[in-house]
Amino acid sequence: MQATKIIKTGIKIAVVIITLLAGFQSAHSNVAASSPETTTNLLDGITLDSSLSPEDVTYLATTLQLLRDQLPEWAQYVQDSKPFTLIVDTREGDKGREAIANCCDTQGRGTITLGHHLGYSVDANTPEAQQAMFIGTLIHELAHVRDQRAGRASKTSFKSCVTAEKSGLDKQLDVKRAMATLNLGYGYRQALDQQITSEAKALQSRELWDFYCGAFDK
Ligand SMILES: [Zn+2]
Repeated sequence: MQATKIIKTGIKIAVVIITLLAGFQSAHSNVAASSPETTTNLLDGITLDSSLSPEDVTYLATTLQLLRDQLPEWAQYVQDSKPFTLIVDTREGDKGREAIANCCDTQGRGTITLGHHLGYSVDANTPEAQQAMFIGTLIHELAHVRDQRAGRASKTSFKSCVTAEKSGLDKQLDVKRAMATLNLGYGYRQALDQQITSEAKALQSRELWDFYCGAFDK
């Protein structure tokens, strides 16, 4: 090999190594910038059933991030409700159920079964309405998980069913009212106003309790 060829080859190899190093470094810094350990921490303590799609998991992570950034006290509420499992079972949605909560298994883990994939409630028609609806549902079901875990409000009669459901519905309204105090833009304001008004009204209606607790004798 001639000296010039050796030098050229050497330069080529050096360029390749530098390129590889630069690529590695940028990949490494991308990982550091885009997946802060906080995202992982937010999902810690939540068992994601295989019925959740990758999009569901992303939706959940985004939702928990929104709570952490905008409503830290409600992010803490979720944190304090762990551990729990999330399941999607569209057969429940077909029966008109938004979600069901159960607690607890032998490890103290609650279970929330959602009747639809995340962000696909039939009761919401914009992304903002879906997001508000999902946050409300998550907090509602977590209230049930916490009540059951603490041995409060088990549903054994119409009266105890109403007590248990009221606890979930009150928390659902609380989180939406907290969201409504934020400056999240017109889409959210409109969706939250509508949901808060109709849910607060429903809370006073007999039909609501018949819907939730009609299976029990009055
Ligand atoms: Zn409920």
